[in-house]
Amino acid sequence: MPSTTLSKRLFVFDFDWTLIEADSDHFVFEHLSEELFQEQLQAVGKVQWTDLQQRLLGELYDRGVSREDIERTLSQVPFAPEMIQALELMKSEGADLYILSDANTVYIDTVLKAYKIDHLFTRVITNPAEFDPRGRLNVVRFHGLDQAPHGCPLPCQPNLCKGQELQKLIDSHTWEQVVYMGDSTNDFCPSTRLQRNDVVLARRGLLLEKEIRENKDLVQANVVYWDNAVDVLEATQSILGAFHTSTASSSSSSATLRTDKRSSEQTHSTVESSDSKRYAQAVKA
Ligand SMILES: [Mg+2]
Repeated sequence: MPSTTLSKRLFVFDFDWTLIEADSDHFVFEHLSEELFQEQLQAVGKVQWTDLQQRLLGELYDRGVSREDIERTLSQVPFAPEMIQALELMKSEGADLYILSDANTVYIDTVLKAYKIDHLFTRVITNPAEFDPRGRLNVVRFHGLDQAPHGCPLPCQPNLCKGQELQKLIDSHTWEQVVYMGDSTNDFCPSTRLQRNDVVLARRGLLLEKEIRENKDLVQANVVYWDNAVDVLEATQSILGAFHTSTASSSSSSATLRTDKRSSEQTHSTVESSDSKRYAQAVKA
């Protein structure tokens, strides 16, 4: 298979509770300051999230937490081996991989480097962050207050409309297929940007699934629900297999994906794992 053909698939991932088994904003405070972690939880829905992180990171610095403490904590964020296998498989098949997240550049880059997978991604699109010379981490909104509001009518956060950013990636190339993977409310807007041949990988039991089921008419892509990284690896193999087959027969790829969609819908009503409930409690948006 010539790589020029395979490079036309685009995979875009949310980060928290999608690629990693945690919310990185929660993880840092949970491990470094129980008091600030509780303050963070209390503020959910009351304060703009990026601004809150900026303030709490300042308080973390004032309490003596160093850059090394934050980096060491981030290196312990759980990242399932099967998820890494799936990412490596996508890359080996010539796909372009992007992260589109409401975390920040320092958190994501540190985690990716800790697992030695930063080379797999073309770019990370998220809130800019950097340590100052003293070791205080600063984070600012991706869509800054100096810009006009992005105006998205869907439930996107004011600092980032993931749909608009995904649309820029979609428009930047003639992709054979686009796959978007996420778990939360702010992953719904990008899911609406995909076409019929594309795939949304939505984590089961969380808010993205709820949005999709309540707004079916807005999502044209095939939707595959998943619980864990093993499911994602299997879905990846199915998607890539369908793609290989589609070069011989244009009808077979859609047939395979339709099967995935149907089977995931059939199992949904009976599968409610304890893990899903835990994720639902932890999710912030
Ligand atoms: Mg997420």
